[in-house]
Amino acid sequence: MKRWHVPLLEEKEVLIIEDSQAVGILLKDFLNRLGFKKIRSCQNGKAGIEAFKEITATGTVPLVFLDYNLPDMNAFSIMTQLLNMKPEVKVIIETAREKTEESIKDVIAQGAYQYLAKPIRLEKIKEIIETLKNEESIITKEIFDSVVNLMSGATQFSLLRLSQYLDKTDEEITPIINQLMSNKKITQINTIKEIACPRCNNVRVAQMFHCPKCRGADFKQEKIIEHYKCGNVSTESSYAEDKCPKCHQVIKVFGVDYRTQDNFYACNECKEIFAEILSDYLCLKCNEKFTLEHAKLLSSKGYAWLR
Ligand SMILES: [Zn+2]
Ligand SMILES: [Zn+2]
Ligand SMILES: [Zn+2]
Repeated sequence: MKRWHVPLLEEKEVLIIEDSQAVGILLKDFLNRLGFKKIRSCQNGKAGIEAFKEITATGTVPLVFLDYNLPDMNAFSIMTQLLNMKPEVKVIIETAREKTEESIKDVIAQGAYQYLAKPIRLEKIKEIIETLKNEESIITKEIFDSVVNLMSGATQFSLLRLSQYLDKTDEEITPIINQLMSNKKITQINTIKEIACPRCNNVRVAQMFHCPKCRGADFKQEKIIEHYKCGNVSTESSYAEDKCPKCHQVIKVFGVDYRTQDNFYACNECKEIFAEILSDYLCLKCNEKFTLEHAKLLSSKGYAWLR
């Protein structure tokens, strides 16, 4: 299974496109203090776009701080190019200009994520980062969709199941869970106990049903007729033209001559009639077969979808 890592926001790369070295250093310093380590600075639009291409080629989309007034290119045109390459990119526009409410709306309407007024204050950056953290966008759409696809068939699911399906550790899963919860997609419920493979602990197990006599899997639900007189018990279909297959008498009055019982099974292979199906489990990971008696029962946090 494909592995992908859910980065914390602080693990994200940051690209600063800012012509003033002083502002660039200040911004970098603030972001460092907020926990960001991978920060790249460019002094003009052209270099910024190149850097953006290089970073995205490694499979990650950086958080972009873009100066509104660059010497070589218009900030809107840079932003449009970045958005063209990666529509999910978050661009934070910095500007020293006194901005009216209208022009801020303009920047946002053009696709900027946020607007950062100069002089840049640590508090404001902190605020933006906090907002970002609380957004669904931290989880890539791919990951979000995977969770939804994998678990949408169930009204509830466990942390263990999700981590096994996604092939992730609990630490990697936690940000996804937190995100889904803060977006009111799921809610935490009681602990879920699940049947797991005794060999590999996997909860992806299939329940298998068998005939208790021959262990075959070819059986169907049948109505059973018991003929009181001769004691014959067999399927309804074996009483052709209402004749008992054992004594060949016609069964006449229900409750007097015979009785019926639903919820029986008839094996198509060995003809056994049985009320209880033999069931065991197959681990879908390591192919181990085991009975309920030998199964492991594992508990983990439970979650339910909010719909
Ligand atoms: Zn297994
Ligand atoms: Zn009979
Ligand atoms: Zn059988």
